[in-house]
Amino acid sequence: MSITLQQKENLPTEKNIDAISNWLMIFAHPMPKAIKSSGFAYQEKLLKRRQELDLKKADTSPVIIDLPNKNSSHVSYAAIEASISSFELLTLARKLVAAHSSINPAQLGLLVSGFNKVESERIAEALISAVLARAATMPTYKSDKQTVSRLSKLSLFGVRASHGFKQSFAVADGNALTRSLSILPPNKLTPTEYLKKVKELARENKWKLEFYDESILKKKKAGAFLAVSQGSPKADSGIIRLRYSPKKATKGKKVFLVGKGICYDTGGVNLKPANYMYGMHEDMQGSAVALGTLLALTKMNFNRPVECWMALAMNHIGPKAYKPNDVITASDGTTIEIIHTDAEGRMVLSDTLALASKEKPSLILDFATLTGGCMYSIGTSYSGVFTNKKEWHADLIKAGEDSGERVWPFPLDEDFDEMIKSDIADVKQCSQESGVDHILASRFLQRFVKNDTPWVHMDLSSSNKKGGLAHIPTDTIGFGVRYSVNLLLNDYLK
Ligand SMILES: [Zn+2]
Repeated sequence: MSITLQQKENLPTEKNIDAISNWLMIFAHPMPKAIKSSGFAYQEKLLKRRQELDLKKADTSPVIIDLPNKNSSHVSYAAIEASISSFELLTLARKLVAAHSSINPAQLGLLVSGFNKVESERIAEALISAVLARAATMPTYKSDKQTVSRLSKLSLFGVRASHGFKQSFAVADGNALTRSLSILPPNKLTPTEYLKKVKELARENKWKLEFYDESILKKKKAGAFLAVSQGSPKADSGIIRLRYSPKKATKGKKVFLVGKGICYDTGGVNLKPANYMYGMHEDMQGSAVALGTLLALTKMNFNRPVECWMALAMNHIGPKAYKPNDVITASDGTTIEIIHTDAEGRMVLSDTLALASKEKPSLILDFATLTGGCMYSIGTSYSGVFTNKKEWHADLIKAGEDSGERVWPFPLDEDFDEMIKSDIADVKQCSQESGVDHILASRFLQRFVKNDTPWVHMDLSSSNKKGGLAHIPTDTIGFGVRYSVNLLLNDYLK
């Protein structure tokens, strides 16, 4: 995306307004006060329109009006309280942007009026993020020519931030990468193709790339990972390890991002029924969130070394596929009794986490579209988080509230292990009975996090939501990039 941002601290003149044909505006509620403090001619019209619609409260959806000027400037606007939550603000911003999407303008005017500087920056940030999320090009295979966003210029009035909203642009790039990879069909994004794309990105961003292919994983005795990959007709599964090393790094504070990258999940021998299988090309979204986060952090010149570990495989059916009752041995020697082949995510992640944590990072964040259980318990507007540092719960929630990508922690007490006790091996892969599979999956993963490495696991129940979520307009959300960048740059986890 090459979109330039122009910032002006003052309010637009009537001439400025007339010159731009598409506007997004957010005023302080109640609007008359905002008008007094600013005072450009068209505000009277905007206020009158609100009054016609009898909007006495703060807005949650945009008011839309065409101004009587030469361009018939199309304006979507709202009047809000500054106390609005980040999630609601981003949601409103998505709706304000949607009012212009059929027009596909090359330039957008943004106006924030009636707030103090901190509030104005926060509101402008939401608008910019929603605009960039909409403008990102997503893959399509339609023979009709795709309508690519023409947007090249954003003119922001009413606030000028010295940081130039660099973080919003970086996160937008990271999130667009995550979404576009996740949307790719499974015959287009095989592990082979995925690796090719990551190699290209590694070159562009100067990341060091290593690929632990199946023969290396055999040497590392990563039996849990290989149990899943052995069902594939092509031996192209493996773990990608990317390294970002900033020039001036804070020593010894390495962050590892780990992600589940199942390029298609049929369920394996325990084959999924049709309506649960459709959409399973997105079962690699966790790895794409890790990658998107790495990209955004790189663009922000993040001052800590970061590694990104992506566990790429397919969960296929076939004569070589693993099956229930198999007992396999993971790289750390743990023996696992297979219960259900559709619980493949925790299999590939267990070895990936064991190998990653051996390197003694100061923090591991892992992302996975892991369980239906998480979705059933918390829905698709939140993602679940799990950590071996219980004292982080409040900060994890706070990072979600502040970023607008909301998460909620689940318990991880030891007694949950009773439910995955095996008669024949060290542990069961999952339980046949349990309705708390998201917790059991996390308990299972935790045993592979070595050296007491501080660890946060995100079960991406909000990876896909019909109609979008917060500022994201597509069903595929790319949830987690904005959250993680916010979490790491603002150092929430002390
Ligand atoms: Zn599965």
